[in-house]
Amino acid sequence: MTGSDATSPAARLAAIRSRIAEAARAAGRAAGDVTLVAVSKTFGVDEIVPLIEAGQRIFGENRVQEATAKWPALKARFPDLELHLIGPLQTNKLDDALGLFDAFHTLDREKLALALVKARDRGLRLPRLFVQVNTGEEPQKAGIAPADTDGFLVRCRDDWALSIEGLMCIPPLDEEPALHFALLEKLARRNGLAKLSMGMSGDFEKAIAFGATHVRVGSALFGARS
Ligand SMILES: *Cc1c(COP(=O)(O)O)cnc(C)c1O
Repeated sequence: MTGSDATSPAARLAAIRSRIAEAARAAGRAAGDVTLVAVSKTFGVDEIVPLIEAGQRIFGENRVQEATAKWPALKARFPDLELHLIGPLQTNKLDDALGLFDAFHTLDREKLALALVKARDRGLRLPRLFVQVNTGEEPQKAGIAPADTDGFLVRCRDDWALSIEGLMCIPPLDEEPALHFALLEKLARRNGLAKLSMGMSGDFEKAIAFGATHVRVGSALFGARS
């Protein structure tokens, strides 16, 4: 295969970037408003490196252990990479995660907020933080309930001095995602938060129409996960 093959990593990246730019333009926004987080979970270094070489710099992983096996060497080789945690974090893995990730999209409970405060008190540097909202109020899904989000954000600011950049959601599989994107945008706006992590391979253009600043795209870039 050559670099011009439609299925090459570089071609897939270019196609996603142009769809992001087009969705932003259609929404009256600048393409540069939207950050592409390439979700590399389950894919190996051999599949990740071609995307880095094609210019992608921001990647997302959902498991600390898997990320620890893949990313330290890549970060040493490509010092301008950014790694975002997009999956639930157990507090006993917090120190490992702090050493590796530049942003957490999944601040989803008080216990994790308190662990972050303790880590900061121990002198560790905190990443950029998004609060995950369980917009569908699904019992099996992590996140702060919509009705509790304003209060949680107040506690982040006033009780814990945690600076929150934005909100993140994963809409229920069987529901129209637009309702969830609209709800997340409303919660962010009324709390003065500028960033919205929402939209995946199947719905990132819709998410951009509702204000997404970070789209998390995996399979459309890497192919189907086994
Ligand atoms: C896996 C995952 C994605 C990417 O999903 P695709 O449908 O493959 O684009 C995005 N966000 C989260 C939280 C994920 O776990």
